[in-house]
Amino acid sequence: MAADKRDYYDILGVSKDADDKAIKSAFRKLAKKYHPDVSKEPDAAEKFKEAQEAYAVLSDPDKRKQYDQFGHAAFDQMNGGAGYDFSGFDFGDIFSEIFGSGFGGFGGFGGGSSRTSSRKRRGADKLMKVNLSFEEAVFGTKKTINVSVSSDCSECDGKGGHGQKKCSTCHGTGVVTSEQRTMFGSFMSRTTCPTCNGEGYSFDRICNKCHGTGKVSKNTDIEVKIPAGVDTGNQLRVPGKGEAGYNGGPNGDLYLEFNVNSHEIFMRDGDDIYLELPITITEAILGCKKDVPTLYGNIKLTIPEGSESGDKHRIKGKGIENPRNGSKGNMYVILRIIVPKKLSREQKKLLEKLSETELESGSDFKKIRDYVKKNS
Ligand SMILES: [Zn+2]
Ligand SMILES: [Zn+2]
Repeated sequence: MAADKRDYYDILGVSKDADDKAIKSAFRKLAKKYHPDVSKEPDAAEKFKEAQEAYAVLSDPDKRKQYDQFGHAAFDQMNGGAGYDFSGFDFGDIFSEIFGSGFGGFGGFGGGSSRTSSRKRRGADKLMKVNLSFEEAVFGTKKTINVSVSSDCSECDGKGGHGQKKCSTCHGTGVVTSEQRTMFGSFMSRTTCPTCNGEGYSFDRICNKCHGTGKVSKNTDIEVKIPAGVDTGNQLRVPGKGEAGYNGGPNGDLYLEFNVNSHEIFMRDGDDIYLELPITITEAILGCKKDVPTLYGNIKLTIPEGSESGDKHRIKGKGIENPRNGSKGNMYVILRIIVPKKLSREQKKLLEKLSETELESGSDFKKIRDYVKKNS
């Protein structure tokens, strides 16, 4: 799948914290070098396409954020893992900067088409909160999500009515001009046409399926692949499932924002996992071997003698796999000594016997003892 795809930052040869200017300039350099119309390099077309894809993602703040969080998995949703589909991206500006304003695009790479029709507008993006269990977030999952996706009404082709005709009040301009006389003189004022609400046309009959809005929303189930390692607040983009576009423009995107439920025993901090492990006073004093659960099955942990509450044991690589770079976090076991509140007669006897022995060792006891002596 996307695992063998090159890192977008590597492709452009920029650092992870490169600013927009550095990204643009890096892409410009590559585009000049590998553009299939000018380059003589044997694999120029491939290289060019790769650079375009990287630039389309890293130059867009939202998509870059997605990529920084999830890597190529951020764009797996609709493309079967092929990475970001940049065919709708408008390279017009940057190519005319590089190659001159007469540059007319090129076959097979897409781009530029959205400029031809200025009235087409993309629909708004939508945000939806998704609850995940701790395990679903850690290991990734597939989720079926019911979303209401609006699209053009099929009955009226998204127009909102039948028998479209030019508005007779404003003659199709959408505005009316009127002269207003006041005590200071007369003014020409332009207001939105009240007959057609500025649309410039009206209908013989309003569409009764969409009630004139031109849009119908339908609840549909979509299956979303949630990459392993997501955390609360992370957002995943599902292309084309936002609000419907205008005048035949594309739908906006749907953003899923995750809320990860807490776990019964594990706590999470980024890619690291924390577990508070209760031990008895004798286990702390004498040391022991403990069965400890991890996300990946139980392990045996050696607690050395003389352990204290708060002692931290690192278990390497038993944390969460980072969706961005595949590295694994660690697990930390924090000891907590539980002092028994109720003792049997026998336990009491044993402890009383123990207390008769010399247990005060180390400089901490001495310091206080000396101070007490001085004040008595
Ligand atoms: Zn009108
Ligand atoms: Zn309709």
